[in-house]
Amino acid sequence: MVTRDTVGLTDQQRLVRDSIRDICDDFEAEYWRSQDADGEYPHEFVDALADHGWFGALIPEEYDGAGMSTEEVVVMMEEIAASGGGFSGAQAVHGAIYNSVPIVKYGSESLKRDLLPRVADGEVSIQAFGLTEPNAGSESTAIETRAERDGDEYVIDGQKIWISRVDASDYIVLMARTTPREEVEKRTRGLTMFLVDLEEAYEQGGLQIEQIDKTASNFVHSYEMWFEDLRVPADAVIGEKGEGFYQMLDGLNEERLVIAAECVGLGELAVEAGVDYADQREVFGRRIGKNQAIQHPLAEAYARVQAAKQMVYSAARALASGDEDAKALGARANMAKFLAADAAFEAADAAVQTHGGFGVAREYDVERYLREARLTRLVPITQELVLNYIGENVLGLPRSY
Ligand SMILES: Cc1cc2nc3c(=O)[nH]c(=O)nc-3n(C[C@H](O)[C@H](O)[C@H](O)COP(=O)(O)OP(=O)(O)OC[C@H]3O[C@@H](n4cnc5c(N)ncnc54)[C@H](O)[C@@H]3O)c2cc1C
Repeated sequence: MVTRDTVGLTDQQRLVRDSIRDICDDFEAEYWRSQDADGEYPHEFVDALADHGWFGALIPEEYDGAGMSTEEVVVMMEEIAASGGGFSGAQAVHGAIYNSVPIVKYGSESLKRDLLPRVADGEVSIQAFGLTEPNAGSESTAIETRAERDGDEYVIDGQKIWISRVDASDYIVLMARTTPREEVEKRTRGLTMFLVDLEEAYEQGGLQIEQIDKTASNFVHSYEMWFEDLRVPADAVIGEKGEGFYQMLDGLNEERLVIAAECVGLGELAVEAGVDYADQREVFGRRIGKNQAIQHPLAEAYARVQAAKQMVYSAARALASGDEDAKALGARANMAKFLAADAAFEAADAAVQTHGGFGVAREYDVERYLREARLTRLVPITQELVLNYIGENVLGLPRSY
């Protein structure tokens, strides 16, 4: 068992780690391997977390949630990934946890009273967040999905792409333009956040979806979505009309850190798989782990993963303390995501190389870790866009895009 750094964990974080570990112990490597091979969403695992109230992690206690903060959620997600779930195991549930945040922060009191206790006890889920569009990936203010007011309703038309877990969700948090881009003084204005009931949308015939065939995170499905004259009540707006972009930014640091923690867990999992194999495989009459060419990449990957972990945990601590301004927190969260994604990729690559030909055999799982680690360099934001942020907001260089 490879040592994972636990220095500085609070009592609450230790409690979270141990509770999550208990649940994850019931889901062994074979479970994740077969979900990946079959492309089957891990309902049993997701239900186990929901039954224990984990989807209410970021929901305040007054709405029956656990009232935790990102400091605890990073431990939770690292643990899920490191237990064998990898990035995709964590990805199967992370939306259910942090998509409640905009509702907690901006939802009306009646929406919060009605919905949040049901999310916290696992009765309903808000697993999906719909931002990306075919003509607006990294440039999110270019989205073209429109929502137009018509009496007591909004009518939604447009297309989304790459939206994950739509099949596992009761509601989607949807970003749409309520004022055309040409009519706002800043392109970040005129975007509005909606809470859309998916079952009602299908029943109305205003929504069609199609699963995207992909090669990483096979059991967490992503969709193309078409909205056509979908009518939603005016109170489906979360927060303030036209301010959705800023509301989204408000939750972005949490999202970056949760995903960075998943990368750390995946990196730890990969290093452990590499070390286990290096320790038992014999070639030329000795264990391959005796060779520095095998040891060093694993040791380096371990060091990089643990360094990224420090970054993730200290950023989560800074976020919880409320002592830093938005720019400083954004810098920490973005750097943590960047370093953790790269560290996970290097760890998975070293684990594959250590396994020789078996590095691509499903049986040893490391090929899955590599596919997933590669994905983390693309989502939820690409590494290049993170560097753009750091270049502009931390180094003070001119905006490059
Ligand atoms: C498996 C998966 C799940 C996803 N789930 C969701 C989801 O649930 N909800 C959701 O809304 N979205 C989701 N996404 C979308 C994801 O957030 C986007 O794919 C990502 O933001 C990148 O956008 P894009 O794919 O359009 O790439 P593009 O924006 O087209 O970029 C293509 C390449 O150009 C680079 N590039 C573009 N502009 C610049 C620049 N100015 N400087 C430097 N480089 C640049 C990018 O870094 C990238 O390498 C998911 C994507 C995947 C693959």
